[in-house]
Amino acid sequence: MKNEANKIPYKIYLEESEMPTQYYNVRADMKKKPAPLLNPGTLKPMTFDELRPVFCDELIRQELDDTTAYFDIPQEIQDFYKMYRPSPLVRAYCLEEKLQTPAKIYYKFEGNNTSGSHKLNSAIAQAYYAKQQGLKGVTTETGAGQWGTALSMACAYLGLDCKVYMVKVSYEQKPFRREVMRTYGAQVTPSPSESTEIGRKILSEHPGTTGSLGCAISEAVEDATTHEGYRYVLGSVLSQVLLHQSIIGLETKTAMDKYGITPDVIIGCAGGGSNLGGLISPFMGEKLRGEKDYHFIAVEPASCPSLTRGKYVYDFCDTGMVCPLAKMYTLGSGFIPSPSHAGGLRYHGMSSILSELYDQGLMEARSAEQTEVFTAAEEFARVEGILPAPESSHAIKVAIDEALKCKETGEEKTILFGLTGTGYFDLKAYEQYNNGTMKDYIPTDEELQAGFDGIPKFPGNEI
Ligand SMILES: *Cc1c(COP(=O)(O)O)cnc(C)c1O
Repeated sequence: MKNEANKIPYKIYLEESEMPTQYYNVRADMKKKPAPLLNPGTLKPMTFDELRPVFCDELIRQELDDTTAYFDIPQEIQDFYKMYRPSPLVRAYCLEEKLQTPAKIYYKFEGNNTSGSHKLNSAIAQAYYAKQQGLKGVTTETGAGQWGTALSMACAYLGLDCKVYMVKVSYEQKPFRREVMRTYGAQVTPSPSESTEIGRKILSEHPGTTGSLGCAISEAVEDATTHEGYRYVLGSVLSQVLLHQSIIGLETKTAMDKYGITPDVIIGCAGGGSNLGGLISPFMGEKLRGEKDYHFIAVEPASCPSLTRGKYVYDFCDTGMVCPLAKMYTLGSGFIPSPSHAGGLRYHGMSSILSELYDQGLMEARSAEQTEVFTAAEEFARVEGILPAPESSHAIKVAIDEALKCKETGEEKTILFGLTGTGYFDLKAYEQYNNGTMKDYIPTDEELQAGFDGIPKFPGNEI
């Protein structure tokens, strides 16, 4: 047996005592820092006080801090993590065998909790800091429902109120996640709704609209800022979320170090960028400090290609234009991607940290089409046993591509990828794929231009 020969187990777990006790902030090791968030009114960097009505205090401190390398993980969060972490680092022996590749493939599996993805890692941290501040509850938006599910679990655990604005089309078409959220006590409202001013405005202008993520963000922010004791929380994109998700990379690195494994290629899917950012953080830190070199690859859907076809400029984070401006690779806040089953990868922008690393040439980005992603998902599911989420399957697709390249060249590269979650709630998509009715959507240059036209224009922000 291959694994007996080299003594690497199928699953590498860590002891509780080996689990990270601090988050790692990759910005501390970046010589050129990500651009600051700007106040859309003054075009000056957002200050702590300006952010206070929206976010809780400790999370603002984390958001604005680009020099502190390590943040202690509070004991209560560490204890919560112990219920479902460390997540396994798996050696994909069966996939290697199937592909007949000399490459060694590993994946870090984040689907081992009821929410089904990595999002719980940040949800518990954000809910904890809100609770610490004595708040009553938090508001948020959710598209397909992964983030809302994770947040409702975290809030139930801590006894916090949780209000979720769920994009109406998903609320109606994806009742299962909605019921998981309600089971954990969240109040789930289809967006646009009559409960906010922005919701009522959108409904009167576009009766019958099925909503969008950007609109749901605007409603959740309005709800938080108009109710005493509530703050808004976001499941990706922000630097604080990447910080919390560094737990993924830190565990991975500790596990690999234990067995003397060094990855050559590190791959992850990129929606808002938090899972990929979290996975690569400690490895990127080594690269930034000149200690080691790695090849990082971000994989995004061809239907929503922020890094591969977007512009690196300041843009709005939401369609209601109530949030700060962030400098990022963006398709424009008005860009509505054509339907894609990878709901978690449909954001128009990208983490400002990953955007800056990509701009500096420290990371590669590729896009993948939906059907080829599902082909990879099925191939993986049949040999590795796990039914992957469509989002995660973007990383599988590129991991397989890289492994097949090794087969041609005979190189024994070590490939690591992030398997962010499971696909049990995505079986409609699998059904379409199995029936042969799944389509690929690639926006035309004209469609992208319409999105770019909505990017705010001010000196220094030319496209
Ligand atoms: C939300 C989600 C993603 C996207 O994560 P980002 O951190 O925003 O890039 C990927 N996979 C799964 C399973 C998700 O739920």
